[in-house]
Amino acid sequence: MPLNSIYDLYGNINSMAEPQQLKLEAVEALINARNVNDLSIREIMKGIIDDEQMAVFLPDSLCQIDPRTGDVVVYNSSRAARLHTTGTIAPIDNRDDQCPICAAKSTGVIDLQPLSEGFTFINKNLYPILHPIGNLQENASGTPLHPDPYHHGRNSYGMHLLQWTSSIHDRDWHNMPLSDCLVCFDRLAVLEHKLLTDSEGFMPASDRVLKKLPHSLGDADLNSGPKTFGYVSIIKNFGHAAGASLSHGHQQIGFSNIMPQRYFNNFSFMQRNQQTFSEYMLRENPKSLLVRDFGQAVLIVPYFMKRPFNMLVLAKDHHKQYIHQLTAEERHDVVQAMVAAIRAIITIMPKMGKAPAYNININNGPGAGVYLELLASTQLTGGFEHIGLWVCQANPNDVAAQLRQVVNAQ
Ligand SMILES: [Zn+2]
Repeated sequence: MPLNSIYDLYGNINSMAEPQQLKLEAVEALINARNVNDLSIREIMKGIIDDEQMAVFLPDSLCQIDPRTGDVVVYNSSRAARLHTTGTIAPIDNRDDQCPICAAKSTGVIDLQPLSEGFTFINKNLYPILHPIGNLQENASGTPLHPDPYHHGRNSYGMHLLQWTSSIHDRDWHNMPLSDCLVCFDRLAVLEHKLLTDSEGFMPASDRVLKKLPHSLGDADLNSGPKTFGYVSIIKNFGHAAGASLSHGHQQIGFSNIMPQRYFNNFSFMQRNQQTFSEYMLRENPKSLLVRDFGQAVLIVPYFMKRPFNMLVLAKDHHKQYIHQLTAEERHDVVQAMVAAIRAIITIMPKMGKAPAYNININNGPGAGVYLELLASTQLTGGFEHIGLWVCQANPNDVAAQLRQVVNAQ
C-alpha cells in the first residue's frame, strides 16, 4: 500500500489544519536536560524521588514470582486510579482532546531532540511500575532474587520512563520520515547505554544472578560484553487492544533490579544451546518465512508464530547484546525493518475488521542477540493459551506470503 494511504488513515499530514501537538514553549519549564548524558543517574533518581506529582502513584515495590513458570509479577495498586486508564471504548479518530501530553501535563523531561517537525522527548512515567529506593541497603542491591521462603516477596526498584515518539499527537513510527525514526531509536540506545553503564551502586551487576546459575557458561562468556548494571526493558503498546492507555505514541522503558522472565529465558536458551536465540533463528527459521532482508537485519515470521502477523526483527550480528552496541548501519536496518512491520500491521488489521494494535518488545542481554518481537493484537487470548496451548487462527506460511506482498508494496 502506498505511504499516502497510510497517512490518510492514520495521520492528517495532508490536512492544512495544524496538527494537535505539544508546543516546545509549553514544555520548556519541564526540561531538566536536553541530553540524558548531561545528567547523572543520581540526579535522575533524585528528580524522581522528589517529584511531588508522582508521590501519590508510587508502586508497592513488591515483586513475586510464579513458581510454576518463573513469571515475575510487580504490583502498583495506584495505577488503577490513572486518569487516562484505557476505557472500554477504543478511540475512533486521531484526535484526543483529553491528551495530557499535548496539554504539557508532564513530568520533568530528561532528553529532548528535534525532529524534522516537532521533537521527541523522554520523561518520567507519572504512574511508575518501578521507583528508586532512597536508602538502598547494602545487601538488597546485591541479591535481587534472594531466597524468599516465607513468600513475603522481593524488593523491586528502579525507574520507569517514557519516550514520546513525537510532540505531534498522531505521529509515530509508521507515519514519520525514516530519519526521524532513527533519531528516536538512537535516543533509546543512548538511554539504554546510560542506564546500564552508569548505575553501579544503585543496581546489581546485570550478570550477577546468571553467574550463580548451575552450568553457567562461565565468566569468560558473560564478561565478553561491557560491565552493566540492572536490566533495561524497552516495550511499546500501540492501540487499545494492545493495552495502550494513551493514544499519543510512546515507548516505555523499565529499568529494574529484577530480571524479567524473558531476559532469563533468552539466557537459558543460550545455556542449553550454546548460541543466542538470534543466531538460532537466523539459521533455523525456514526461508519461506522470510518477509524481507534489510541488509544488517531481517524481518521474519517465526515458525512458532502464536498469533497471526507476529513477527521478529533480528540483527544479523548475533554477538551484539544491546541496541547501543549496534552500528549506525545496523540501527538503520533494524529500524527500517521495524517500521515496515508496523506499517504492515496497520495496513492489514483494518482489513480484518480490527483497529490497529500491537506490542513491541526489544530483547537484549547475553542470551538474546538483539531482536525485536512484534506482536499484533489479531486474536484474543483464551483459556487454552493460559495453559500454554496456543491456538493460532492463521498459518505462518500464508501470513509470510501476505506480509511479503504488503511490505514490498510500501
Ligand atoms: Zn497528544
